[in-house]
Amino acid sequence: MATFVWVRVIMETDVIIIGAGASGLMCAIEAGKRGRQVIVLDHANKAGKKILMSGGGRCNFTNFSVDSDNFISNNPHFCKSALNRFTQWDFLTLIDRHRIPYHERDHGQLFCNDSAKDILNILLLECADAGVLVQLNTRIEGLERQTNRFHLKTDQGTFNSQSLVVATGGLSIPKMGATPLGYKIAEQFGVNVLPTRAGLVPFTLQPDDKDLFSPLSGIAVPCSISNKRQIFSENLLFTHRGLSGPAVLQISSYWRAGEAVEINLLPQVNLETELKAKRRQKLKNTLKTILDGYLPKRLVSCLLTENVLNISLPDLSDRQIQQIADQLNHWTIKPNGTEGYRTAEVTVGGIDTDALSSKTMESKQVPGLYFIGEVVDVTGWLGGYNFQWAWSSAWCAGQYV
Ligand SMILES: Cc1cc2nc3c(=O)[nH]c(=O)nc-3n(C[C@H](O)[C@H](O)[C@H](O)COP(=O)(O)OP(=O)(O)OC[C@H]3O[C@@H](n4cnc5c(N)ncnc54)[C@H](O)[C@@H]3O)c2cc1C
Repeated sequence: MATFVWVRVIMETDVIIIGAGASGLMCAIEAGKRGRQVIVLDHANKAGKKILMSGGGRCNFTNFSVDSDNFISNNPHFCKSALNRFTQWDFLTLIDRHRIPYHERDHGQLFCNDSAKDILNILLLECADAGVLVQLNTRIEGLERQTNRFHLKTDQGTFNSQSLVVATGGLSIPKMGATPLGYKIAEQFGVNVLPTRAGLVPFTLQPDDKDLFSPLSGIAVPCSISNKRQIFSENLLFTHRGLSGPAVLQISSYWRAGEAVEINLLPQVNLETELKAKRRQKLKNTLKTILDGYLPKRLVSCLLTENVLNISLPDLSDRQIQQIADQLNHWTIKPNGTEGYRTAEVTVGGIDTDALSSKTMESKQVPGLYFIGEVVDVTGWLGGYNFQWAWSSAWCAGQYV
């Protein structure tokens, strides 16, 4: 009878990268090209799952215009160095070299023409060319650092290395394999972690507002949305759960629980001036008929009462006009919350950038320990900025690991 002997594998390498997502693969390519022996470990059964689901399956992989203002961080200057050293043009050179067709959408956003698979395939091809080993289905069980080497215990054996790169991403979409491992590793080594929250995420509404607005599900209108910190001009989408669309996703990253947001439903129109002008022209229409020309009927009916809507323009007082204009140009609503990590595109907060070198992404306290991508407290706007941060931070670390 055959006897099976379990041998726990011990593997020595130069660089271990935890996370085979956007940043982990990019870092592996750069380190591999320098002749470093690199292993990328991931617990998932597939590399780059978020790349595949991004941009509605077409991956908004970068943006023609990238600036530190497009990012949220406790230290807004931290991302500048990496973004300047590996730019959107550098990523486009890679895309062009692999002849991937792409197109520009609003606000300079760049998407694949065919599929997000094109981006993942490039990264995996480049990894193979650089001699990188990508090992999936590997559960991380423990980590130690002794005599300047990292010892990573997994269910597939122990991996020892000189450099360890944490590229485990944020907490959004746990179903896709998101875990807090990166933050736990930081805590284990005394690296500060700033509080995290869901970003680029739809708002849920207070019960009364939900009842009022859920029949509008599917209606989209251009708007500008703002709070004390930021303003965005994008589309607002009503859903059966609350408010979504690019406008809401963008402002959600700047929103704190309990705050109100202001929505200008007619960003191109000063309604007070417009209504007064029409009144001067002796227009006899009801307010309802006039507003039909500006906004969907059902939306207007939710925001203004039938009584007001049936008043004809000459009968509206200055005060009434001001109140109506206020309601549509400065609609203030207090969300109940967000849909949370279940549907968020990103995690705001994370590894404190004060603990990292902006040149190398290496921990200032723990030589050889690097953090890249979304796990770091640098969060991009909607529009390809999160991938650009993943590419840029990963490229920088890849030159030093
Ligand atoms: C639905 C959706 C759409 C998006 N669309 C866009 C877009 O179009 N443009 C854009 O710029 N950004 C987009 N983003 C954000 C973007 O996907 C992320 O910011 C980016 O993937 C971050 O890269 P990363 O390498 O840091 O992390 P990830 O790509 O998330 O990779 C992290 C990897 O670490 C692995 N991992 C996690 N925990 C463990 C563990 N305990 N053990 C082992 N492995 C682990 C994961 O399996 C994963 O493979 C989108 C996000 C979502 C959720």
